[in-house]
Amino acid sequence: MSTPTDSRTNLLGLPRPALEEFVSGLGSKPFRARQLMNWIYKRGAGSFDAMTDLAKQFRAKLDATAEVRAPEIVSVQRSSDGTIKWLLRADASQAFEMVFIPEPDRGTLCISSQVGCALDCSFCSTAQQGFNRNLTTAEIVGQVWLACRELEREAAARDVEGPGTAAPAGDERHVTNVVLMGMGEPLANFRNVVPALAIFLDDFGFDLSRRRVTLSTSGLVPQIYRLAEESNVALAVSLHAPDDALRNELVPINRKHPIAELLAACWHYLDEQNGRSVTFEYVMLEGVNDSPAQARALARLLKGHPAKVNLIPFNPFPGTRYRRSSAPVIQRFRDELLQRGVLATIRRTRGDDIDAACGQLAGRVIDRTTVRLGSKTFGLAIQP
Ligand code: SF4
Repeated sequence: MSTPTDSRTNLLGLPRPALEEFVSGLGSKPFRARQLMNWIYKRGAGSFDAMTDLAKQFRAKLDATAEVRAPEIVSVQRSSDGTIKWLLRADASQAFEMVFIPEPDRGTLCISSQVGCALDCSFCSTAQQGFNRNLTTAEIVGQVWLACRELEREAAARDVEGPGTAAPAGDERHVTNVVLMGMGEPLANFRNVVPALAIFLDDFGFDLSRRRVTLSTSGLVPQIYRLAEESNVALAVSLHAPDDALRNELVPINRKHPIAELLAACWHYLDEQNGRSVTFEYVMLEGVNDSPAQARALARLLKGHPAKVNLIPFNPFPGTRYRRSSAPVIQRFRDELLQRGVLATIRRTRGDDIDAACGQLAGRVIDRTTVRLGSKTFGLAIQP
């Protein structure tokens, strides 16, 4: 990997058309961009020296003007269930997190889109940290690139140790699914997230199917309409309440974009993208949003629409006022939904012994925002 410099272009931040333009600027043919992507994304190359089928002169020009630089790893934690959490450096004092969740039939990488988050959802650990900055496209793509390399390196080390050690995922690719569900609201960083999605889906990039890349939003309605025009990944929405009064409290952006508006945007997204369904995330908070009556209200909202509900047992963090609903209460809630024809599943908690479970990502954020949504102000900086 190259040493960071300010003047060189980080190629991890360039989707194919931008990379073609970049190589044209160096006097090379656009097809060189595809060769470069093949080295970077298929073979995990981080140095131009390794790219032996590129002319020496071209490699020298690349060395002088470009780099392949992923975020630097600050620390790694491993859960007893195989989940891995990386703390990644954003700058000298700030850090963000990504999490790999291995399962028998897939490997899911949960990545961050911002350092912290300004949306102030009351049950979320990231929100308690405040917001520092948006991640760049290269930092978003760099997470997937880095995880693939690290997992590959670990698998190679296991092979050297010999058979009998467990493989991370049941696929020759370690990362089969990418979810933007880590720190931050991806649609508040639209300008940097959308090019990253293009690289995830590009045949010459990570070549993931659109159903294996999921963007999760707390409900930035205008950006959902824009996303429908610019990408076609799977959509997940943090719903968490069946009515506006409660959702205003749990997810403050609801005061600006209430549930009816949000659902209309979701159904529009599916129509435009010919998508299968929207996943609605619903964190189970004891005595807050987990009653059978609330399950029935949720079923009334979603019945007849292509929707799936993912019930997430709350993962407590220091200082929270919420508690996790009990297992029987969560099962009863799911059954109420199923009985009314709404598909619902309960998410298995992973990585909670290393604070890597849903809603627990905190990173290291020194808040620089003056405005947060919980303050009832909506002058939030959302990057176009
Ligand atoms: S749940 Fe998501 S949108 Fe809400 S504060 Fe946490 S990271 Fe931000």
